Amino acid sequence: MRIGILGGTFDPIHRGHLRLAEEARKKLLLDRVFFVPAYLAPNKAGISDKITPAGIRYAMVFAAVRKYPSFKVLDVEIRKKRKVFTIETLRQLRRKFPGKHEFFLLTGGDNLSILDTWRDVRGIMRLARFVIARRPGYRKERVPPGIVWLPIRSLKVSASKIRTSVKAGRSVRHWVPREVETFIREKGLYRSSGGKGNGL
Ligand code: ATP
Repeated sequence: MRIGILGGTFDPIHRGHLRLAEEARKKLLLDRVFFVPAYLAPNKAGISDKITPAGIRYAMVFAAVRKYPSFKVLDVEIRKKRKVFTIETLRQLRRKFPGKHEFFLLTGGDNLSILDTWRDVRGIMRLARFVIARRPGYRKERVPPGIVWLPIRSLKVSASKIRTSVKAGRSVRHWVPREVETFIREKGLYRSSGGKGNGL
């Protein structure tokens, strides 16, 4: 199998993530795409706004991907309840899918300029093809050797923009699947600066 792996904070999952996964699936002929929500985001430690509890972010990803037959959400990282680097997850998935399966680590264009912040890029590249896809607002700079550049019809959307919009009382219907919009509304996510929602 050719397996795409899309890690992220998914706070919340949005159409930009789904577009990235879908375009990568088609262009790289992937059989599966695994969405891997992080418990804490390694690259985002110390950001000011608090992250939504992992169980809620997982539930939103689950709801968003369930209608796509090739997409699946994995709880490998959130189950550990700690910061997990991608290299560790790849090693774990490799043990689960040994042999001929090929891994494609799917990331967005914002990662091109911060590749040096990733733990053990060389190790990652031994276990997977490191794919960086076009993302609006981020220039395609020099693509380092070994990185697969994927020119996709990406969407100009980010989770932070969605959180800001919800807080300001604006609709986010265009940017998230209906199930996720309902989830955000019903749980009262992102309304306050804590971003934790009510009652969960
Ligand atoms: P935030 O705004 O909170 O920083 P985000 O929208 O970047 O969040 P993440 O969950 O951090 O979402 O992203 C997970 C992965 O998806 C990252 O590799 C990121 O580059 C990629 N990604 C996110 N949004 C897009 C998009 N609109 N187009 C392409 N790739 C994207």
